[in-house]
Amino acid sequence: MAKFLLVIAVFIVFYLFLRNQARKSSGMPPPHSSPKQDSPSTHGEDMVRCGVCGVHLPTSEAVTSRGDFFCSKEHLQLADRERR
Ligand SMILES: [Zn+2]
Repeated sequence: MAKFLLVIAVFIVFYLFLRNQARKSSGMPPPHSSPKQDSPSTHGEDMVRCGVCGVHLPTSEAVTSRGDFFCSKEHLQLADRERR
């Protein structure tokens, strides 16, 4: 019985060792130090409202003119035309 437990212990140590080696050799950084940037996310970004159609969109995608936001250049020009 003691021999059986020893085999299991050796197996566990061997398993942990292999896992450790695999992680080291794969070149993968620890998961917490690699924020993914591959998907453009609007998370945490300010949302603005188009002054013409009222659609909400992130600031980075909005067209800005004199403090107003628009969803597209077309709507910016439309608003400009109405002002004149
Ligand atoms: Zn619009």
